[in-house]
Amino acid sequence: MTETFINRDHLAALAASFGVTLDETALDRFDAYARLLCAWNEKINLTAITAPEEIVVKHFADSLSLLQVAGLPQNAALIDVGTGAGFPGLALKIARPDLRVTLLDSTKKKLTVLADVSRALGLSVELLHLRAEDAGRQPAFREQFDVAAARAVANLRELAEYCLPFVKVGGRFLAMKSAKTDAELEEAKAAVRLLGGKTAAVHPVALYEAGARTVIEIEKVSPTPALYPRPSAKIARFPLK
Ligand code: SAM
Repeated sequence: MTETFINRDHLAALAASFGVTLDETALDRFDAYARLLCAWNEKINLTAITAPEEIVVKHFADSLSLLQVAGLPQNAALIDVGTGAGFPGLALKIARPDLRVTLLDSTKKKLTVLADVSRALGLSVELLHLRAEDAGRQPAFREQFDVAAARAVANLRELAEYCLPFVKVGGRFLAMKSAKTDAELEEAKAAVRLLGGKTAAVHPVALYEAGARTVIEIEKVSPTPALYPRPSAKIARFPLK
């Protein structure tokens, strides 16, 4: 048997603690993903997390924790906004191949990596090289997704303007955040409402040795007004309040 790169048992146990069963195919794919991530990271700066054990906990398990807090329906359409090296979107696709996953990022080289990795893993995902605020105005993407997820992209007030336009009414926006979110949530309240959202829940996530995290779950209760998302300069200079 070839040596594995990651500790598969640890990943399987962390996933199980979130109620996620990873079969052999998924574990093989995670192993290959970690190898490719490290190989690509030698050429371009993708992630500061490069030790296999840290990749398991801080990238893979953290991404999978979304499945614990938000049961995603079979075949749900999910867009990962500012996916970077594929977190959480590509990790979710490995665990749940039924999901229809779109990975969006404004940085071309990240999409090049994701094209290589998804091909190597034999997974079909949609790759979008666009800024979120441009994609969110296009009819092909606007209000087309059951779920928009994002990790480490922007503060919630801006992130809501990037993400909520993608979500169908009745769908959800899931923002993966650090442990303390009270102030950020308060600051984003008006923006969330204006964009057609309603905060449904704030889920604490225990990421074991990597500490606590939070997933903010926002429900889309009405269509996003046509005015949003605004151009990037406006979003940055005049945050919604
Ligand atoms: N979500 C990944 C993770 O948690 O590992 C990547 C996080 S990285 C810090 C932020 C990513 O968001 C970068 O890849 C960046 O190119 C992308 N990004 C930032 N603003 C964006 C925007 N307006 N539209 C699309 N992508 C954006």
